[in-house]
Amino acid sequence: MDSTMMNVPLSLNHLLERAGRLFADNEIVSRLPDKTLRLHSFGAYYRRTRALASALQRLGLKKGDRVATLCWNHHAHLECYFGIPAAGGVMHTLNLRLAPDEIGWIAGNAGDRFLVIDDVLLPLYRQFAHLHRFEKVIVFAFSGAPVPAEMTDYEALLANADPDNFEYAPHHEDDPVAMCYTSGTTGRPKGVVYSHRSTILHTLVASLGDFWGLRGTDVVLPVTPMFHANSWGIPYGAVMMGVKLVFPGQHLHPDDLLDLMQLEPPTLSLGVPTIWMSLIQTFDAAQAEGSPNKGRWKLPAGMRSLVGGAAVPEALIRAFDKHGIWILQGWGMTETSPVCTISYPRAELRDASADERYRRAAMAGVPVPLVDLRVRSDEGGDQPWDGESVGEIQVRGPFITGRYHDVPVDVEKFAPDGWLRTGDVASVDSLGFVKITDRTKDLIKSGGEWISSVDLENAIMAHPSVAEAAVIAVPDEKWSERPLACVVLKPGQSTDAAEFNAHLLRHSFARWQLPDRYEFIDAVPRTSTGKFWKMKLRERFAGVSVPARSPTA
Ligand code: ADP
Repeated sequence: MDSTMMNVPLSLNHLLERAGRLFADNEIVSRLPDKTLRLHSFGAYYRRTRALASALQRLGLKKGDRVATLCWNHHAHLECYFGIPAAGGVMHTLNLRLAPDEIGWIAGNAGDRFLVIDDVLLPLYRQFAHLHRFEKVIVFAFSGAPVPAEMTDYEALLANADPDNFEYAPHHEDDPVAMCYTSGTTGRPKGVVYSHRSTILHTLVASLGDFWGLRGTDVVLPVTPMFHANSWGIPYGAVMMGVKLVFPGQHLHPDDLLDLMQLEPPTLSLGVPTIWMSLIQTFDAAQAEGSPNKGRWKLPAGMRSLVGGAAVPEALIRAFDKHGIWILQGWGMTETSPVCTISYPRAELRDASADERYRRAAMAGVPVPLVDLRVRSDEGGDQPWDGESVGEIQVRGPFITGRYHDVPVDVEKFAPDGWLRTGDVASVDSLGFVKITDRTKDLIKSGGEWISSVDLENAIMAHPSVAEAAVIAVPDEKWSERPLACVVLKPGQSTDAAEFNAHLLRHSFARWQLPDRYEFIDAVPRTSTGKFWKMKLRERFAGVSVPARSPTA
């Protein structure tokens, strides 16, 4: 028997039309390079986005063509999010933090036809322009500088297009709308292509009350770059609900973010843990007597902060909660759109102690609807959800990629039955809370036993003298690998290894799990998406030997 429902495709164009009709007066704020704020209404946004789509069609954009963006977070980038798919194209966000050669390689691999770029990023473009020829380079005058004569001016392009006489490109819900490359920290970057359908389903799920919980009165600050897994999808949710957006532009320094929060206090923000760690340290340092910044900032009490992309230390959650800001941890990947799990207070935890709530918030969380999740043992069987048995997380769902752009199906990345192999090692407890132990390549195997680098670094970061810490494995003749802790102390602190070991023993680590060596460093290197880059630390400390003592002593 056939269903009687209409067969209307899920479509981003619907969200754009809705925003234009229902939310015309709501605001989109962008911080410009000179730090002033520019205000747009959703009404203007709607017309500009349709004008962009119309202009792209006039330039000869065909269905499925890729249009790259090399932009900070601002309103014009948001116009690309909807304008490129509206014209039938695929928006491909290039990561401006990658090495120029890598950006050029990725643009070539994606076969990008056009490029939309911020004027302030043209010096970067010139470093990779020889690696890939875009038919048109469309320059958004973000700083207001004149657009070079040989390039196309984004504003002129929009001014000459007619948003009223624009027809959306015909499409199916499975047609591609956007493309993102994995960061390449675990091999050659690979392209993930999202569809209308996957994006709409992801947006609906992530917007649910216990997750982003988008409300019409929200003010959303996306610190996550729009090239990092589509800023985790929040731009789509914000347009769907017409919520006010505050884009930080290129100013992501903690002082700048705190200044912006005074001007436009957010109710929801998104970013990786390293951003929030430096933000809270800057804020706390400003409270000290004699600080030149004393009294300069207030934190936006009541803000929800979605933090993910890397493990979120419990100490960070506690530090923000003191100021009335609750951190919701999420776990996911570029391949998964990205939201797969979110840690939220389930009904069973209503009467839980504060310690228990913090402990749960420091976990990756519970699988969201439409995501099937399993934990596979080394032998290939499913692990029980007992909170102890660990294995590789594998996921399946309508917003999880089934393959990569232009790559034959990779058996390393997909199980024989098609589930995505995430490369993350975790356990799941009876309430469905996922606890990430490590990435497969970050696990430390000592004398046949696994040691979780994530657990160690979170405990070290709970020490009051520590600004940040990352734990890596170093080769060891007897035990095969041993942990080495790289620690960044807060200014003026001088804690030593003995004190850290005592602290870890108090955190119920066994003696054999303690790092054999502590290196005090100035900063933990960051990946292009702002996460701790342990590969760089492994390279740096490749030659060090750990003390020749028995780790079980
Ligand atoms: P990359 O980290 O390589 O830049 P992604 O942004 O796609 O690429 O990152 C996905 C990976 O980030 C996951 O596989 C996982 O290892 C890590 N990750 C994401 N969220 C969390 C989290 N909440 N806890 C621990 N690790 C996380």
